[in-house]
Amino acid sequence: MQHFSINNLGDPFIESNYGVHSRQFEVGVLDWFACLWELEKNEYWGYITNCGTEGNLHGILVGREVFPDGILYASKESHYSVFKAARMYRMGCVKVETLISGEIDCADFEKKLMQNKDKPAIINVNIGTTVKGAVDDLDLVIKTLEGCGFKDRFYIHCDGALFGLMMPFVKRAPKVSFKKPIGSVSVSGHKFVGCPMPCGVQITRLEHINALSSNVEYLASRDATIMGSRNGHAPIFLWYTLNRKGYCGFQKEVQKCLRNAHYLKDRLKEAGIGAMLNELSSTVVFERPKDEEFVRRWQLACEGNIAHVVVMPNVTIEKLDSFLSELVQMRSGWYGEEKGKPPCIAKDVGTDNCLCGSHDK
Ligand SMILES: *Cc1c(COP(=O)(O)O)cnc(C)c1O
Repeated sequence: MQHFSINNLGDPFIESNYGVHSRQFEVGVLDWFACLWELEKNEYWGYITNCGTEGNLHGILVGREVFPDGILYASKESHYSVFKAARMYRMGCVKVETLISGEIDCADFEKKLMQNKDKPAIINVNIGTTVKGAVDDLDLVIKTLEGCGFKDRFYIHCDGALFGLMMPFVKRAPKVSFKKPIGSVSVSGHKFVGCPMPCGVQITRLEHINALSSNVEYLASRDATIMGSRNGHAPIFLWYTLNRKGYCGFQKEVQKCLRNAHYLKDRLKEAGIGAMLNELSSTVVFERPKDEEFVRRWQLACEGNIAHVVVMPNVTIEKLDSFLSELVQMRSGWYGEEKGKPPCIAKDVGTDNCLCGSHDK
């Protein structure tokens, strides 16, 4: 299919005049996700985006169209694309504090809501933050909104770029579902699903789209997407993967990732290296390795004194073992009596998880 220029421009549900498309596959994938997040076929709208960012840009735009004078609330550990959306749409934006886990701090959220009671609220809820893999407590966010008198005056976009497809398979996780008062959910296709090209899935309520979209004669379709031309190969890859792995296949992979992440966290701590793993997450946060070459070769992402490993289905125990043994061996040369102590990461991961011996004040 590399021989064809497959382009799904326009609304996936409305024929366009461009014939070389993969809309049937796209709609098949969308149906699967709508079902996963519990929205009826005739009540949802969505499309396959070019990445997770485009899903966030779309979800927040829908929120802004529903509440034109709404204020955007997002925890400070939200992905940078959320704050980019606020700048692009010139929206008022309030950053909310986080707990040590990386989850949104609903006590601070409540305080900030009460300072802006006259304006509706548009909230970005993280289903897995980028750095710590923290899952915001959706139910507590909704309760906080209702408790502050925002009933029917809020719009929730769920940024599930990272774990949107994992959470449905984790028993203790707060459920992401359109049976709750949420407006949209997005997920990246090249992260957990492993699509070879960047892509994503965006699902929202059809009623919102009917209100905001316009018809475009040139396309003979409806303009409701952020981008124009859209990758027509991505839906085929996604459709193929969903059908090959199936619900049970994903469930097994999620369980494997969570097990392997626990293994990594436990081995790090056994080796005296500070590490944290959120309960609902496969992202292991640990002390930043001192050697830049080590960081580059293992493709670690770092922020301040911490680094993380996102344990995805391709990460095996063997790979983790070779990573661990190399890290432990190299680290013994980084610190010592003359060379100084490893960094204190208590303020990033909590005093229980930091193993530096004497935490900074
Ligand atoms: C990766 C990520 C995004 C953005 O996804 P892209 O596909 O890189 O645009 C958004 N939010 C979170 C939480 C992410 O981890």
